[in-house]
Amino acid sequence: MKVINTKLVALALILAVFILKSCNTGENKFEHYETPALVVGIVVDQMRHDYIYRYWDHYGDDGIKRLVNEGFSFDNAKFDYMPTFTGPGHASVFTGTTPAVHGIIGNSWYLRESGGRTYVTEDASVSTVGSDSDEGEMSPRLMLSSTISDEIRLHNNMHSKAVALSLKDRGSILPGGFTGDAYWFDYGEATMITSTYYHDELPDWVQEFNERDLPAEYVSQPWETLYPIETYTESIEDDNPYEGTFRGQDSPVFPHDLPAYAEESGNRIVANSPFGDKYLFEMAYAAIEGEQLGRDEYTDLLSISLSSPDHIGHRYGPASKEVQDTYIRLDREIARLLDYIDEHFGKENVLVFLTSDHGAAHNPEYLRDLNIPTGNYNRSEASRALSQRLEEIYGFDPVASVRSRQIFLDRDLIRQQNVRLEQVQRDAAVFMQQVEGVNGAVTADALMNTSFTDPLKQRAQKGYNAQRSGDVIYWVKPQWFTSSRSLGTTHGSPYSYDVRAPLLWYGWDIPAGYSTVPVFISDIASTVANFVNVPYPSGNTGDPMNHHIYE
Ligand SMILES: [Zn+2]
Repeated sequence: MKVINTKLVALALILAVFILKSCNTGENKFEHYETPALVVGIVVDQMRHDYIYRYWDHYGDDGIKRLVNEGFSFDNAKFDYMPTFTGPGHASVFTGTTPAVHGIIGNSWYLRESGGRTYVTEDASVSTVGSDSDEGEMSPRLMLSSTISDEIRLHNNMHSKAVALSLKDRGSILPGGFTGDAYWFDYGEATMITSTYYHDELPDWVQEFNERDLPAEYVSQPWETLYPIETYTESIEDDNPYEGTFRGQDSPVFPHDLPAYAEESGNRIVANSPFGDKYLFEMAYAAIEGEQLGRDEYTDLLSISLSSPDHIGHRYGPASKEVQDTYIRLDREIARLLDYIDEHFGKENVLVFLTSDHGAAHNPEYLRDLNIPTGNYNRSEASRALSQRLEEIYGFDPVASVRSRQIFLDRDLIRQQNVRLEQVQRDAAVFMQQVEGVNGAVTADALMNTSFTDPLKQRAQKGYNAQRSGDVIYWVKPQWFTSSRSLGTTHGSPYSYDVRAPLLWYGWDIPAGYSTVPVFISDIASTVANFVNVPYPSGNTGDPMNHHIYE
């Protein structure tokens, strides 16, 4: 007996040393077992990474600078797929994977079965709650992975709450996942709505928020720059040929007469001004109070996707004074939010992250005037030439649709004609590679069967979903545009200006620091999961970056 006991003690000692060694990650893991009361995820729609630094001198000490200086900043965070649009971006942040797995391959996509197309969050089986329009016929049902919102709730047996807010439907529905609540802006009625997927009627706090009718208040005065416009030396002349205007406006210059344009277009134009951000932050405070977020032992998640920076960016482009003013004002709203968190929870109890859903290119005409290579890819001409070429080879036109830089072939027709699909895909890709403005094209067959080392092809592969994507994926040259639109800007490419994003962590257990280690936007969800000690989303393929924060 005695001998066995000694052996057992020795075994226990060895085991204890082994466990201690494997737990030796600098600080004791179990000190971090307590989880944040609240996670606040901020997605700034179309925020380029460089906006942190371009407008730095105009930011206060307590907004974006506080996130950077007191939090942890990843300065080399990217989207690892194409296309870089809002739907795929939001899905990737919250599912921790890419369109290949979460299935959100665009804001809308072609349907082979019907020849029609689907919108990313459309769902005809549900109806609008909060207005009489059809803008609420939406749900997350086309997404193929759970989100971090779902996992936090599942892990805590649904005691946790997840609330997602955005002006855009897809900016809240995808982050909220399948079990969270989502609210978005009815762009016709200028009010916040949801759908019967979530609730049969708006909760009291949402009704009360809508009754304040903030859009009417915010468009009752002109949009002027927050600080004297002559101090905005980081941006080009206010009056220039590269920017769009409000309907009824002669030139794209301050002050923007919001009351007049609201008369013309309705209070929805709040979304096209920085006051759309103010509006959404007001709703965030109402949600925290109304849902009592962060008030019990179960971690809650609030996601705030700011859509106005995207609307403004599209109209004016990254070099504009309008975009500069938008970020200077957003900085003030972030300062307010951080003060609110300090006051109501304490910084150490709330985990905040800030990122974006894609970047944006500079305006093509602006670049052309500076001799930087750019161009306009002519999609309809290229599509016609492609059909013609394939008809010459096969004696019939096998192209069903060309959209969003994807070529869909008519697979039934190709089968009937006894032609090999892979061969047609290859011929289409070879043709596209010669089209003016195209930089690369790869077949679905190759995307399914090849391990790429080239980052652009990897991005094509991670954006490719076998059941939803086309037969050939192509991309145009850097700074080339696939639309003839020459005012403002757009995004969607696999290039640095579209794939690089801000990524800031702040609060709770986050030390001050920064890193240029490569991380991906699809790494965010598993990082949150590790901070909150919950499982990764079901389709997660990203890797957590927690160790980079503490090393
Ligand atoms: Zn977007």
